[in-house]
Amino acid sequence: MSSETYVCPECTSTVERDYRVKYVIRTCDECDHNGRFLHESLTDVIYAIPEEDRPDDWADDPLDERFRRALEEGLIDRTDLNI
Ligand SMILES: [Zn+2]
Repeated sequence: MSSETYVCPECTSTVERDYRVKYVIRTCDECDHNGRFLHESLTDVIYAIPEEDRPDDWADDPLDERFRRALEEGLIDRTDLNI
């Protein structure tokens, strides 16, 4: 069975699951943050956004919030997400 990696939006520690979805909601073992752990392929898309296109204070946002904003502002296209 293949395993999928999900990334804590706050501290970027990862967990493995045997199913593939956009995100899993859980509490992080490392930082105690409760939120949406994004699938690794989505965090790759976020990191691939060119610096000049990123909104102000981007780096201050947790990853799930960056993902939401990136979709909202059209920085990433839903069709780019193969998930
Ligand atoms: Zn964490």
